[in-house]
Amino acid sequence: MFKKIMVANRGEIALRVLRAARELGVKVVVAHSEADSQSLPVLLADEAICIGPPPSAQSYLNIPNLLSAAIISGAEAIHPGYGFLAENPQFAEMCRDHGIVFIGPTPESMHSLGSKAGGREIAAKSNVPTVPGTGVLQSVEEALEAAEKIGYPVLLKASAGGGGRGQKVVRSSEEMKTAFAQAQVEAQNYFSDPSLILEKYIELFRHVEVQVMGDGKGHVVHVGERDCSIQRRNQKLIEEAPSRLEESLRQEILAAGVRLAKYVNYQGAGTLEFIVDPDGNFYFMEMNTRIQVEHCVSEMISGLDLVKLQIKIAAGEPFTLQQSDIELRGHAIECRLNAEDYEKDFRPSIGKIETLHFPGGTGVRVDSHLYAGYSIPPNYDSLVAKLIVHGENREEAIARMRRALAETVIEGPGVKTTVPFHLKVMDNAFYKRGAIYTNFVTTRMSE
Ligand code: ADP
Ligand code: ADP
Ligand code: MG
Repeated sequence: MFKKIMVANRGEIALRVLRAARELGVKVVVAHSEADSQSLPVLLADEAICIGPPPSAQSYLNIPNLLSAAIISGAEAIHPGYGFLAENPQFAEMCRDHGIVFIGPTPESMHSLGSKAGGREIAAKSNVPTVPGTGVLQSVEEALEAAEKIGYPVLLKASAGGGGRGQKVVRSSEEMKTAFAQAQVEAQNYFSDPSLILEKYIELFRHVEVQVMGDGKGHVVHVGERDCSIQRRNQKLIEEAPSRLEESLRQEILAAGVRLAKYVNYQGAGTLEFIVDPDGNFYFMEMNTRIQVEHCVSEMISGLDLVKLQIKIAAGEPFTLQQSDIELRGHAIECRLNAEDYEKDFRPSIGKIETLHFPGGTGVRVDSHLYAGYSIPPNYDSLVAKLIVHGENREEAIARMRRALAETVIEGPGVKTTVPFHLKVMDNAFYKRGAIYTNFVTTRMSE
């Protein structure tokens, strides 16, 4: 096992990694920006190193500073968390070049799965269905021809895209020319790569994703699937496990996820995202080659510590867990508490936390870097806490979440959170019935 690792991230995920490492007896260095010098992971760290000014580009995305921090502190490995550099193959490669273990998959598999075009290719090779679509498009004429064949509406996607950005729905051939040009410019601006692919636009679907863990030598297990259909502008807000699928369909999707991960000899934790349409057709969307925000619901139903497993696999410990060892029990739900004003169109509402009270009791878990007296910096995303509950079944989990949300107090001048939004969802008749598609927030939440 490592003696010391560095976390190249912030907020709740930095804390999550710190907790896992500490239980393994591993010392933790937290690399942080100037804005995060008083953050909880920094205060709890064995060592903290400032890696730059508040803007992410100068700190959490600053590869030379991060590598220097790891080398100076003597960290043997870097955990990238999610976001920032977690899916950047160049970073993983540079870690390797400097003799530092990147806690995650190899740069090669990150690279091949990192683009939408690459992901579709691997899916095809491993016999996993994808949405009807194309590889990288060479021209608008090619896009028009493909769209004609597939049928409108179609979705133009930045092949290098991520975070739900760089997508454009095209509803007719008249719209294609402008949309194509716009999407190319956006792809170039956001992702420094203008490559576009095109897919059939699926109007109504659930987002179902498979959690896998692999040893990099062909052994892959799944830790069940999650439903992440409660989203707003492609950002997940609530996730749960298991998803509400016919058992045979669930097994097909899980098997497809494992097949694809095995095909690339996947190492570490990964997630395969699928679209499931109302007729029970499922299509692979993309693989996230990292731990995800919502990994906790899978931990709750499996009893596994996925972050510890990531660290152990990266340290070269034999990964002997068999599929038959993994027993999934009950139902888990996660609500992402964002510092946003739900009543004012989810606009950011940050400030200093004065009063803080998190819920507890049977089956409740809170992952949060907040403390009373902490000022939420304006430079990063708005996730401030994850409230996770586990129940015997979905009904109990919903009742427990409602109870836990009602106990939650996060207060300070100007601070608003999405707690009221989540309470409303837990009381929503469609939600309770499990009649959820990704358009839930826009179509099922108006009075
Ligand atoms: P998940 O929530 O399933 O882990 P997300 O796509 O929401 O995955 O990404 C996790 C975090 O990383 C979020 O904070 C998101 O905003 C950020 N993120 C993901 N991809 C990108 C990207 N290409 N550029 C910037 N931020 C990203
Ligand atoms: P990203 O890397 O930005 O997360 P994804 O391919 O995962 O890119 O797509 C982001 C979101 O866009 C998905 O979670 C899903 O809600 C939606 N989406 C993706 N592909 C399609 C499609 N073919 N039809 C309709 N919606 C889609
Ligand atoms: Mg995605």
